[in-house]
Amino acid sequence: MGKKWKKLMKNMDRQMALKTALTMLEYDMETEAPEEAHEYTSQMVGILNSMLQEEILRKDNGRLLDQLEKKELPEERRKMVHEMQKERRRMAAIPAKEYREFSALQAKASTIWARARENNDFSSFEPVLDRMLEMTKKMAGYRAEKGQKPYDVLLNDYEESFTMESLDPFFAMLKKEIVPLWKKLEPAVKSVDDSFLYAKCDIQGQKRFCDYLLDVLGFDRRRGVAGESAHPFTTSLHNHDVRITNHYYEDLPVSGIFSVIHETGHALYEMGIRDELTQTPLGGGTSCGMHECQSRFYENMIGRSEAFWIPIYGKLQEMCPEPFAEVERKEFIRAINKPKPELIRVESDEISYFLHILVRYELEKALFAGDLKVKDLPEAWNDRMEEYLGIRPKNDREGVLQDIHWAQGSFGYFPSYALGNAFAAQIYYTLRARYDVDGLLREGQLGVITEFLRENIHQYGGLKSSREILKDITGEDFDPSYYVRYLKEKFTGLYL
Ligand code: ZN
Repeated sequence: MGKKWKKLMKNMDRQMALKTALTMLEYDMETEAPEEAHEYTSQMVGILNSMLQEEILRKDNGRLLDQLEKKELPEERRKMVHEMQKERRRMAAIPAKEYREFSALQAKASTIWARARENNDFSSFEPVLDRMLEMTKKMAGYRAEKGQKPYDVLLNDYEESFTMESLDPFFAMLKKEIVPLWKKLEPAVKSVDDSFLYAKCDIQGQKRFCDYLLDVLGFDRRRGVAGESAHPFTTSLHNHDVRITNHYYEDLPVSGIFSVIHETGHALYEMGIRDELTQTPLGGGTSCGMHECQSRFYENMIGRSEAFWIPIYGKLQEMCPEPFAEVERKEFIRAINKPKPELIRVESDEISYFLHILVRYELEKALFAGDLKVKDLPEAWNDRMEEYLGIRPKNDREGVLQDIHWAQGSFGYFPSYALGNAFAAQIYYTLRARYDVDGLLREGQLGVITEFLRENIHQYGGLKSSREILKDITGEDFDPSYYVRYLKEKFTGLYL
């Protein structure tokens, strides 16, 4: 191993140590930490963040990366240098003073957003969101290459090589297909009874069933733990320490059930990364879109299929007799898939989910193009919801204030959710061409499918991009028509 490489690895280890500590503290603040901890611990988080920034921007680190970038290196090392260089350049492009202001704004905006949402008052959030948009635009502008639009810089952060040029036709095609599909399904699904999904269900029973699901899904308890938080999420310190959280509602048991399946999808991805990449910049999932691809694959394509429930539905009835003991499995399947207009994205069905993302994508584009002002956002949001889903939020909590993303400055993130679903559909059809997927699920052999994903996606961590993964698995470039086909086949089959 060359001297330069050894030095770089030392730098990398220090950076990874700080990142691991930060992840751990953030996880802790979301889960176990007492109420008063936040204000004090977040100061330490701020200091650790500055230390990390200093590490990344250290002169010798930049010199090493510049030198190694020019060398012929084995693939894995080349990718590591590329990732580290990307992160360094991103940071270096932004003046330190602005970077600090942005971090402070992020912390402040999240708190103001939470309060505004609670009080259902967009006007109190408007000035800080306005500033957030302005700063995000400006910072993306620093990083933009010649002629590149700031919004494209952000889109590329979350999903490499996807820009408005490729996303516009993607969204346009899906809009053209899904809005009419939705209109066709609407009268047919009205009579589907799903009232039992909103009946009271003992929380202890729900917890027992969700714990059982972890084993069904192959969650490795030696590498992962499951906890609770206000909103379910997954975090990974590295591939041997992956943490998921869940949230249980007494009158909406399926919320916890599908959250645990979704988060386990994220967790299996992280746990499946090969050990050579542990605690390196390639030691996590390759992109937000591919991560969401895994979680949505388990949640929807597996978790909402009838075959998956054949071997386990009895367990649900046994552990949660109220309200499921009297519900037939077939009724349950039709209820958990029932499309119906829903104002809240995270509670929405597979069809309206896409329309939710479409609304956000169109609004972000308009905000970045200067065609829409932040103060007009609630109106614009409600108008689109009415146009696409036929329902209008009665207040901002049900509308523009529902997601935290914009408060964190994460513009450009939402499209990766839609891409993840489309990736998942494309992979699903390849999988079905090779295996009898339903047959495996009926037999309780989900492990075969997970092994396929581990072999072809998980183990590579950040070594391959989403596009490369899709190409290697399916033999084709990204093709969103599979997503349309999936939705049409599934929903016509179930309800028409
Ligand atoms: Zn997710």
